[in-house]
Amino acid sequence: MSVIVATSLAEAFAALSAHPEATLVAGGTDVMVEVNAGHRHVADVVMVNRVGELCTWRHDGAMLHLGAGVTWSQIEAAPIAEWVPVLAQAARTVGSPQIRHVGTIGGNLGTCSPAGDGLPGLAALDAVVHLASPAGERSLPFAEFMVGPKRTARVAGELIIGVTVPVLRGWQGYSKVGVRNAMVIATASVALVTDLDGRTVRLALGSVGPTILRCTEAEAFAAANVDFANGAASAAVVSEFAALARAAARPIDDHRSTAEYRRHAVGVLAGRLLRRAFPNE
Ligand SMILES: Cc1cc2nc3c(=O)[nH]c(=O)nc-3n(C[C@H](O)[C@H](O)[C@H](O)COP(=O)(O)OP(=O)(O)OC[C@H]3O[C@@H](n4cnc5c(N)ncnc54)[C@H](O)[C@@H]3O)c2cc1C
Repeated sequence: MSVIVATSLAEAFAALSAHPEATLVAGGTDVMVEVNAGHRHVADVVMVNRVGELCTWRHDGAMLHLGAGVTWSQIEAAPIAEWVPVLAQAARTVGSPQIRHVGTIGGNLGTCSPAGDGLPGLAALDAVVHLASPAGERSLPFAEFMVGPKRTARVAGELIIGVTVPVLRGWQGYSKVGVRNAMVIATASVALVTDLDGRTVRLALGSVGPTILRCTEAEAFAAANVDFANGAASAAVVSEFAALARAAARPIDDHRSTAEYRRHAVGVLAGRLLRRAFPNE
């Protein structure tokens, strides 16, 4: 077994071509759990947590680029938290401070669990995921990147370089429920993003389907029925929005929850988030 600590993208690609079966490790907070549980056999390791190109972010006014190695601790704090509050709120729910200190957004994307807390916000923001290999770079909308539970469009030899998200004017929020209040995997989660300039409301659900689900009917209903200028939504609009979110869910029963509870929970969370986004009646 070899452990290669790459300090540049070039080194990471060279290590991957020398060890095509190697496991990429950023913070290791998903990988090590899988190894300890015997669910993953690791031969060689390529560490990417010291690759400078992955650990940086750029903000150019309209857009924010987050390198795959940006940690949840960075995302939950200013200035990133001010530009993408939905991701900051999600970041604050990931594990504990120790996990957030090393766990990365790229690792959340690499695992791509429907319960990954970073993913509903990325879906609601229409994030673009950037991938690269020695053969070149490509970019995919999040909806094309996540193709199933823990399945992505990434091919062997590719690195997740980062994500680009828009910096929008308008309220954003993330809520999740689990079997306890902290250090918990979501049994249902909801991200809501408003765009006051585009007059849109985006809603994405986690843990209630094989992938993160965008609720296009609820979004269209909200866009047509909320009062963007006055930050207002009637009780009837909030209630119908919640019902449309429930209808969009495709939950299953498993060891964490029942499908029925999950469907109920996303309705409650979606309604609450819409009310926070549009506090006036
Ligand atoms: C105690 C505990 C609590 C947790 N709580 C939560 C929680 O509340 N919410 C939540 O969403 N998650 C939680 N997690 C899971 C984990 O912390 C997150 O998914 C985290 O974002 C993973 O990031 P990482 O850098 O540690 O990933 P790693 O474990 O290093 O990697 C995860 C996967 O991504 C791949 N990968 C990493 N970087 C790249 C890259 N640049 N390109 C291609 N592939 C890459 C790896 O090969 C691996 O398959 C928890 C984990 C633990 C141990």
